[in-house]
This record gives sequence, C-alpha cells and structure tokens, in this order.
Amino acid sequence: MTTPVVLITGGAGFLGSHLSDRFLAEGYEVICMDNLLTGSLRNIEHLSTESRFHYVDQDVTEFIHVPGRLDAVLHFASPASPIDYLEYPIQTLKVGSLGTHKALGLAHAKGARFLLASTSECYGDPLVHPQTEDYWGNVNPVGPRGVYDEAKRFAEAMTMGYHRYHGLQSRIVRIFNTYGPRMRLNDGRALPAFMGQALRGEPITVFGDGSQTRSFCYVSDLVDGLWRLLNSEEPYPTNIGNPREMTILEFAKQVVELTGSASELTFLDLPEDDPKVRQPDITKARKILGWEPKVLLEDGLNTTLEYFRGCPEFAGVKA
Ligand code: UDP
Repeated sequence: MTTPVVLITGGAGFLGSHLSDRFLAEGYEVICMDNLLTGSLRNIEHLSTESRFHYVDQDVTEFIHVPGRLDAVLHFASPASPIDYLEYPIQTLKVGSLGTHKALGLAHAKGARFLLASTSECYGDPLVHPQTEDYWGNVNPVGPRGVYDEAKRFAEAMTMGYHRYHGLQSRIVRIFNTYGPRMRLNDGRALPAFMGQALRGEPITVFGDGSQTRSFCYVSDLVDGLWRLLNSEEPYPTNIGNPREMTILEFAKQVVELTGSASELTFLDLPEDDPKVRQPDITKARKILGWEPKVLLEDGLNTTLEYFRGCPEFAGVKA
C-alpha cells in the first residue's frame, strides 16, 4: 500500500506541529513547510528522526514546488495572534491571499484535498451569539485586526472559487480560540500571557474590565475535529471550537488559582476592535462530523501549565 502524503503549511507552528503528529500517527508522510516567521523548530524537533517527516524552509507566498504526489494540503501558515499580526501586517495579508492562492494551485495540480485554516475572526465583533456558520460577520476592514480578518475572509472566498471553478475537494474550518502545549509564551494571547505572568509572579494583564468572553478549546480536540472535517465531504465553512464560554476575568482568575501564584490582576486598555463575545455554535460539527470537544478546561490548562513550566524560560522557577 502506498503511504499517503500531506503538505502542512505553517507546520512548525502551534497547530501545524500538532497536525504533523496526528498525520504521522495516521500513517501519512508529512511535508512540513514553514518560514519560521512565527513558527519554531522547537515545535518539531521531536520529529527530526522520523523518516516520514520532512521539513522544508519556505515562504508559501512564493511559488511552491513539491516533487511527487500529494494527497492533502493543509494551509495553516499565518501569524495568528493579535500581537503577531500587528507586528507583521503585510506578511499576514500576503499569506492569507497570495499564500492561499499558491497552496490552492498546488492542491489542484496534485489532485489533493485542501483544508483551509480559517478563523472565528471572520465573524469580527459578532452581532449574532453564539456564532453559526451562516452569520456573515461584523468586521472592521481598516482596523488593526483587519489585516488578519480580511485575509482569512479572502482566503475563504478563494477556496470556494477553486471548489466551484476547478471542482477542488476543499474544506474550510473556522477555528475558535485554541490552547495547549507549544503555544508561544510571548505571542500576546491571553493564555500564554496569563500563565507566563503567573509563573513569574508578575501582575496579570486583563484588558478592559475583563467582561469580554471567549471559549477555549484544547488542541487535541481541535486536531480531531480537523481530521474528521478533512475526511468529510463538506466544502462550506465549519466551526470547530469549545462552546464553554467564560469572561476573560474568570479565565484570568482560574489561571492564577491553578498556578498557585501570588500575582494580582491589573486592568489595562482594551485593544481596538477586541470582540466583546465569542462562542462557537457547533451544531453543524456535531451533526456532520460526529465531533464535540472532550477535554475539560481544568485538565487542558494543567497540561499546558506543565509544558510552560518545562520551557527554558522557567527552568528552576517554582510559582
Ligand atoms: N487579553 C487580556 N490580557 C492579555 C492578553 C489578552 O485580557 O494579556 C484578552 C484580549 O483582550 C481578548 C482575550 O483576552 O479579549 C483573548 O485574547 P487573545 O489574544 O487570546 O485572542 P483573541 O480571541 O482576541 O483573538
């Protein structure tokens, strides 16, 4: 039997590296493509002796050449935290537009299935709650988050274009807030920020009054949803996320309690266009994929905390 081959763009990122693990476990040969703008070799170093794993250092906004057959292309390359896309606005726009075009063209040329990593950011600051896939969103195109939101909305449109015009077997996932080991400690997201601050005994930076809500999904649940979606026949966007919603203030307090830290909370300005609420409606994923998240927040946070404690930055720190 021939070994199936998958290309994962952004394969050295947080999600890409977990996808690499899953596809290797499913018997695939994995080509991991990354330019390490926000990804890290540390995320994939445990795979360096795996003969079915290949790392290619490339910017996917340039022409992509991959020799041989490809059965699937997972397009996960992109800066994906508010701090990252504020620092790299042009790269974020380019990887969502030009990068998606290159990845789609490659999938089409190889007859491969295509999975686009889209985002709950497509809903912007949502006026429908919880968010269903048929909601078109409330996005500010010219605000600081616009570079990410609009790039992903364009990427969805382009993917549907390839599906309709070329008959490409494409799938689109709208990923809600996801956490777990291999998140970058300094990516500015709430979870690594809070855990890092708690471990260092620094004030916990809650933006605004902390009443904005998010719903956090553990990475293994997300990856399982992605695996099922790729193997489904659904071309339209599908939400994958954990519907357990909480305020950021509650979340901050939970992290402090978990770490046993003496850190106090400090309240800073809410960033521009920060969505006030976010919660996935996963009725569709439940129905067509038989999927729902399984990992309890408390368990996922503990595993993630262990990971951060093991990072070189915290060697010897005992918060
Ligand atoms: N947040 C916060 N303090 C931080 C980082 C983030 O209060 O140090 C808030 C942020 O304003 C947002 C929520 O936590 O309301 C989640 O932010 P994150 O960057 O993780 O992801 P987002 O859902 O905004 O893309």
